[in-house]
Amino acid sequence: MVKGLTNTTPLAEWGQEGILPSPAQRERVRVRVTGEDKRAGPAEHHTSFPSFKIISIIVLNTISPMSAFRPDPPRPITPVAPDSYTPRGVAAPVARVIEAFRRLPGIGPKSAQRLAYHLVRMPEAEAEELAEAITGVKLRIKLCTVCADITEQPTCHICQDPNRDRSVICVVEEPLDVTALERTRAYNGLYHVLHGAISPTSGIAASDLKIKELLQRLQNQQPSEEVTEVIVATNTNLDGEATAMYLQRAITPAGIKVTRLARGLPSGTDIEYADDATLAHSLESRAEIQ
Ligand code: ZN
Repeated sequence: MVKGLTNTTPLAEWGQEGILPSPAQRERVRVRVTGEDKRAGPAEHHTSFPSFKIISIIVLNTISPMSAFRPDPPRPITPVAPDSYTPRGVAAPVARVIEAFRRLPGIGPKSAQRLAYHLVRMPEAEAEELAEAITGVKLRIKLCTVCADITEQPTCHICQDPNRDRSVICVVEEPLDVTALERTRAYNGLYHVLHGAISPTSGIAASDLKIKELLQRLQNQQPSEEVTEVIVATNTNLDGEATAMYLQRAITPAGIKVTRLARGLPSGTDIEYADDATLAHSLESRAEIQ
């Protein structure tokens, strides 16, 4: 026992050879080496010798002396980054699928996890068919050389169709918009897909879209298939409006009529529930009853 020190306990007999505690424990204890060991020099050292004679181990900053020999504390849990959803305990291949699903639009973390485990349970043949379908989309699908819609051929089936009205081109932002308009069966003209909209906030300029291709298409048109109207069917948000304005300024000087889809009341809507902007646009775009 060392005079004047508390929390001191003898853990080895005088002169007994001892092995140093583990590195983590070494930080918490101090070994007092006496003049019996000539190598020791000053009377007190932090444990750094591989072998020494122990008189006592003075436990620092603890209440119980034996707490110095507790196992290393558990490593702190690293929090999962909010943009990375890899649940703990998930096998690496499954975690990879979860991350891949998460990047899809409209898929949250829970849905990604559910889909991934559905894949795990899926028969192998079915999973291979799905994988082949996904690969095929990237390998076989290309953009139509005329309208930039998605197609398997160099030119899409709409551009090839001789029954289509070639004097009207409807300009849309995305290929899905073509599908939506085709579903109406109310339009029989051609399309042009921009693959986006001008967006100053997102840094998307006209040069990033298929606008140049549209203007070249209008310039190089055949006299027999002269375009007389371009319908701008971009979205009714800020980016869509900016794109419509750009197209109107670029196309009108060529003597081609540029129109915009009317913004009005959805079918089956009560007037009293319509929002102010929609109601105002409906008034502006009113048409004679036929
Ligand atoms: Zn086409």
